[in-house]
Amino acid sequence: MENQKIEISIVIPVYNEEENIKELFLKLERVLNGLNKTYEIIFIDDGSTDKTFDILKDLSKEDEKLKVIQFRRNFGKSVALTAGFEHVKGDFTITMDGDLQDDPEEIPNFLEKIKEGYDLIVGWKYERKDPIGKKIFSKIFNKLTAWLTGVKIHDSNCCFKVFRKEVVKNIKLHGELHRYIPALSYWQGYKVAEIKVKHYPRKHGKSKYGLMRLLKGFLDLITVKFLMTYLTRPIHFFGQAGLILLFFGFLSGGATLIFKFILRISLANTQLPLITVFLIIVGVQFILMGILAEILIRIYYEPRGKSPYSIKEKINFQPSEKNDPTS
Ligand code: UDP
Ligand code: MG
Repeated sequence: MENQKIEISIVIPVYNEEENIKELFLKLERVLNGLNKTYEIIFIDDGSTDKTFDILKDLSKEDEKLKVIQFRRNFGKSVALTAGFEHVKGDFTITMDGDLQDDPEEIPNFLEKIKEGYDLIVGWKYERKDPIGKKIFSKIFNKLTAWLTGVKIHDSNCCFKVFRKEVVKNIKLHGELHRYIPALSYWQGYKVAEIKVKHYPRKHGKSKYGLMRLLKGFLDLITVKFLMTYLTRPIHFFGQAGLILLFFGFLSGGATLIFKFILRISLANTQLPLITVFLIIVGVQFILMGILAEILIRIYYEPRGKSPYSIKEKINFQPSEKNDPTS
């Protein structure tokens, strides 16, 4: 049993979902058994304070395909997903919410779509069953994300997704970056597509994400945009800003000198010297910051054996030559 190949892994982060998990598990079992594939279901209990873990423990006694990872405290959904990703064995990994808003019946559609040759399929909750405020914000948010990241999908926040193994083994989710899995994957060169999924209102329990969460999401968007564009060359970002400031600094410095020594106009009443000093100091700071960032990314990539690229395939290499995340 241990060595049996697993085809499908389901990853579900749960935080205080005691009223939902049993029903979800039974539905999942029904759908997955109908597929005739080997599977595992991994629940990550993200520090629940209700009976979530006890219920999972009971269920797992009857079915060894149900696996549970319990966190000591609430680390957040991104971290829970990462833990799940590090433990999956399946060729395909499906992530979904644990609150029954996503319907396991959609799983076959996801699998069908990814077999068309994609690496990641994202669900699109085209009729979202959530409070109106959340719907509006999420719409603006998704438009902005699509525009800034270049991934043309409607619903980057939808947790319902299917991944090929390479993708889950390569993605690192810091902070609350789970919203940007499609962008991060696309940026690594994976092929991303979407399918429409039905969405259901939350029946039991409370939503853990309000509007504040969405606002924080905007900050994450800036991070993702920065990482996507400049992670391998931060000096270009800071350096450009620095050079522009320096240019204006020298311009106003030049003007200052001309006024003072050639036109002999008193500068006592103008801000020119101040502006000059300000622009030059800030410009130099920006360039130094860029150099520091360059040093930091070297520390980021080198000692941990990380590469700033992601390889799709290798030919004629021994698997151990460079750490292969999929093995
Ligand atoms: N969740 C989690 N850790 C958290 C918050 C949420 O694992 O800190 C889980 C939660 O139990 C659910 C999923 O993430 O399975 C989505 O959460 P929720 O339904 O509250 O978000 P919404 O659908 O309202 O955006
Ligand atoms: Mg929900």
